[in-house]
Amino acid sequence: MRIENIGEFEIHDGRFRRYALPGSRLEKLAGGFGFIEGPVWFADGEFLLFSDIPNDRMYRWVEGLGCSVFRAPSRFSNGNTRDLQGRLVTCEHGSRTVTRTELDGSVTVLADRYRGKRLNSPNDAAVKSDGSVWFTDPPYGILSDEQGHKAESEIGACLVFRLDPSTGDLEAVAEDFSKPNGIAFSPDERLLYVSDTGYSHDKALPRWIRVFDVEDGRRLENGREFARIDKGVADGFRLDADGNVWTSARDGAQCFSPRGELLGKVLVPETVANLTFGGPERNRLFLTASTSLYAIRVGARGAQRP
Ligand code: MG
Repeated sequence: MRIENIGEFEIHDGRFRRYALPGSRLEKLAGGFGFIEGPVWFADGEFLLFSDIPNDRMYRWVEGLGCSVFRAPSRFSNGNTRDLQGRLVTCEHGSRTVTRTELDGSVTVLADRYRGKRLNSPNDAAVKSDGSVWFTDPPYGILSDEQGHKAESEIGACLVFRLDPSTGDLEAVAEDFSKPNGIAFSPDERLLYVSDTGYSHDKALPRWIRVFDVEDGRRLENGREFARIDKGVADGFRLDADGNVWTSARDGAQCFSPRGELLGKVLVPETVANLTFGGPERNRLFLTASTSLYAIRVGARGAQRP
């Protein structure tokens, strides 16, 4: 079909019309950041947390009040999510760890080493309904001092991990990525999506999202290409209740059907690095886009815990 535009929505497939609410417009909620990622919605407190990586801090955004500093320094935090108890789970470039913020505000390190070697710089995480924390470990936080602390990789590879926080067991579940980055489960948790953003530093490397079958709830099999991003990289993504994948891209957010077909886009004037669904109806798409935070209401609802 011919591409059709409704406001900032770009419709590539008729199925996207139901998500492209005609009266909905992209709102810029805040700006002036260094480079923001890791949005996570707290429905219980009606606020959004996100990370400004190079400025080494995390912010909290509240409707009507705007942004305030949540944590500084943040140890160059990047991706954020919440566990089954609602506790904040954070990927930290600076400390090269995955941490959990307890309800009393103290911070517990969940993972810092694999087989005795320090992690590279955990990037993004997803919590499964059994409480396990799945995360990616590319080197973006150790490539320079800009988003962490420059260092050599001790592991010598960029892996995808499954962590059991009850035992501390850390297992590598995928080893064939150049730079694994965004990570999210399908609503039924039978599939795990993981992006490879190797393209960011080498145009010959991938910029696609792969999908795996989750076997026995803990192993990955049958890894295959799910979708290829045509602009920028799929740094972060979330699923909606219909099983569509909403991913970041250079031109905004791109929405792919469960079969990997591009349904449509939300055009954003800055490169989007991450996104998440939030708001009381879980239908507000929050976009961390380089130096600014944007939001738009869509006709889809987020499927996952944030
Ligand atoms: Mg990322």
